[in-house]
Amino acid sequence: MSRSMTAYLNEFTGDDFKASVSMYVGMKSTKLYCHSTCQQAKPENSIIFSSRYEAERLGFRPCQSCFSSLPIGVWRDHNEYMLLKAPEDFRFSVNLRYLNRSQDECLHKVENNKVYKVLELNHTDVLVEVSSWQDRILIVRFVGDTPQKQSIRVAAASYVWDWFDLDRNLTPFYQMGRTDPILSQAVLDFRGLRLIGVTDLFEALCWTIIGQQINLPFAYTLKRRFVELSGRHVMWRDQPYWLFPTPEKVAALSLGTLRSLQFTTRKAEYLIGLAKNMINGRVSRDTLLLLKGYHEIGEELQRIRGIGPWSAHYVLMRHFKDPCAMPIQDVGLQNAVKLARQMEHKPSKDELVELTNGWDSWKAYATFYLWMTLSS
Ligand SMILES: [Zn+2]
Repeated sequence: MSRSMTAYLNEFTGDDFKASVSMYVGMKSTKLYCHSTCQQAKPENSIIFSSRYEAERLGFRPCQSCFSSLPIGVWRDHNEYMLLKAPEDFRFSVNLRYLNRSQDECLHKVENNKVYKVLELNHTDVLVEVSSWQDRILIVRFVGDTPQKQSIRVAAASYVWDWFDLDRNLTPFYQMGRTDPILSQAVLDFRGLRLIGVTDLFEALCWTIIGQQINLPFAYTLKRRFVELSGRHVMWRDQPYWLFPTPEKVAALSLGTLRSLQFTTRKAEYLIGLAKNMINGRVSRDTLLLLKGYHEIGEELQRIRGIGPWSAHYVLMRHFKDPCAMPIQDVGLQNAVKLARQMEHKPSKDELVELTNGWDSWKAYATFYLWMTLSS
């Protein structure tokens, strides 16, 4: 990296940034939400939100004038790449380690300390390369074609921001974890790890169905077969970059095709049934978000055939970012707790409830960190 670039990055990180101190104004007439400083933000007929999530839950969309999908001051647009200011407690390498945990992962690629992923943003395929400068800045570079519209470049940066859960202030988690007998080692070892999201609801639900009752390596193998069968890809430097299949593609599959890829009949039925329910609108992110809270979303998810408590909590964790979600039935979680406490047996559900009592609104993060202890 050139000297002027380094000087520039240093200057950019020097700016004041407090992601947590934000306020959003939602305009009832346009259903857009703005930063309070935006010229489009009108005080009349508006609602004040303390977070983007609150606004989006009520069906408000980010304003394309103030780009309210990102906090103020955290991004810079350089056309061929976007810069994002990382929050405190961010370590790119440990996040890459999570992303690189299976050779069969087909929805992103980790290479030379960078991660590559193709995103579909406003009907445009955008291939991004994400790297980090000193853990202080994320560089989101457009490889292949640079999107001409700024709104798409910002959408790519917003995607990365949410993917790495960069809005979250992890200080209270580390304070709690430091003295917790189960978490103390994990929070030291993996400091800077963020709860990596699964942005697409259909993908998150399918992944929990695919992963049920099989080991993780086989789950990744099945996912790759599933994606290569019905997803589509973008080629760059002779390599395919895959997008998760749409519900339309999956609904058109036959049970026999999935069975030939070693899916059980039941899983094949669940996946095709889910796809049909996404198409007819019986399962929709917007409708789920309108429910009162995460608990209600979890209950509603379990009405989907193939989604039990484990899957529902997994989706709450990885897609909805519910901080209190914890798939208590998860064998990995149970094994990690057993390992951390040097127990002779895996903890029962009651024991786990008791042991994790103090984790409060950090249950999802705690689970994510404990999973990492198993893969290292
Ligand atoms: Zn605005």
